[in-house]
Amino acid sequence: MRAVAQAEERFAQTPQGLTPPENFLYRWFELLRCPQCCGHFVVAGHGEGRALRCVNCMTPFLTKHGIPQLLKPERAPSIREYCAKYDRLRLQEGWASTDPEFYLQLPFHDRTGRHVSQWQLRAQSFRQLQKWIEKTHGLQRLRILDAGAGSGWMSRLLAETHHVLATDVNGGAHGLNAHVQRRFLAVQAELDCLPLAANSFDLIIANASAHYANDVQQFFAEAARVLRPGGRLVVMDSPVYRDQAAVAAAHERTRDYYARNRVPELAQNYGGLARELFIKPSAFDFTCLRRDFDNFSPIKKWLREKLGKASAARFPIWIGARLPVPNEDWHFGRPRAGALLVRDNKLLTYFFNGNKQQYWRIPGGGIEEGESPEHAAVRELREELGLEITLRHRFGPYLFANKEHYYFLAETNSADLPQENASGFEESCTVNWLPLARLAEFELYSSALQWELVEYFQKNSRA
Ligand SMILES: [Zn+2]
Repeated sequence: MRAVAQAEERFAQTPQGLTPPENFLYRWFELLRCPQCCGHFVVAGHGEGRALRCVNCMTPFLTKHGIPQLLKPERAPSIREYCAKYDRLRLQEGWASTDPEFYLQLPFHDRTGRHVSQWQLRAQSFRQLQKWIEKTHGLQRLRILDAGAGSGWMSRLLAETHHVLATDVNGGAHGLNAHVQRRFLAVQAELDCLPLAANSFDLIIANASAHYANDVQQFFAEAARVLRPGGRLVVMDSPVYRDQAAVAAAHERTRDYYARNRVPELAQNYGGLARELFIKPSAFDFTCLRRDFDNFSPIKKWLREKLGKASAARFPIWIGARLPVPNEDWHFGRPRAGALLVRDNKLLTYFFNGNKQQYWRIPGGGIEEGESPEHAAVRELREELGLEITLRHRFGPYLFANKEHYYFLAETNSADLPQENASGFEESCTVNWLPLARLAEFELYSSALQWELVEYFQKNSRA
């Protein structure tokens, strides 16, 4: 299955198969959920006016700069206010910059020159994380959630190899929109209310973010929900203190600092973590990949205590294996490939008319072990419809909780295409040629493909 995922990038590099960056929304679309009721979405509008509307509670969620704003509506105004104040302070402190090149060079080079040693430590953490990923997962292409991604520097680097979705409360120029050319999907969301489907990710990374969660226990519960069985949560670069008293003292210092900067309210969203969080029973079995950077820290710690100074925070890397839930039935599904054949502005589909449901699907089938999605699409159309096809443009991969789908816009020289209402090609289905201009009206499987096709054909009919 992972070999298949790697093959798709090769096709993406061919001249006919370029996947534009905005389509990362559709890559992840099947796994996005309403932050209010966990419902699925339909797409309304396109481009900058695009909104995702929950099919269950009907709430519309706007997208801005291609970033879906999946915040609970009652939380959105205070989050906006918080981000504006936070951005101002971060610019003042040199943790943010109006120079777009600043974000592109993180974490290896700090162009403000104001936090060079801290960025060096972050770069060191990142390299250690990368090594651990390579050691434990080899060349597998993982689905990674960068939770509390900030400007998204880590997402940008991880997306060179993996499928990455980045969330943060800040969708602005110093938050998720700091990288305008993104090879990952950015989603505005809170850590303790992840608008994502269950059992969908291999890895969640909370990099310098877990201490900003409104409720860190609730964030861990959400992380356990969206990780697949066997998935892992990495908590890194968050200050961890030896006990609750040290956490409280640290919070006091933070409050003073923010008060001096005339934004005391920002302290509400900041809290250190106590070590016991990683030790007491939870949905995760945590191990500590790195206790701290500094070999001398036990001596320093002893000295600080002798001198009556506040207990220092550690910045360990904790890796939590998501523990199995009783009676859990989850397994990797078979990936699927299909071909999109268009004639006279109509798309070839199979119509399934069941007692309880009706849907339309694209001719294709399961990808065999070791087979590429391209080969599977060509083989399936030959076996099923006796058609020889040439592939033109790739749609997908579309990620589902346990599998992936690939579709190809295809051409055939055959004059012998299946007729409307013909049957016998796939069980309980009849052939149905759907008008391209009305694709939004039918239950096309899958909906990620449906909405990407609606947008694609709209664009091409205008061109
Ligand atoms: Zn809803």
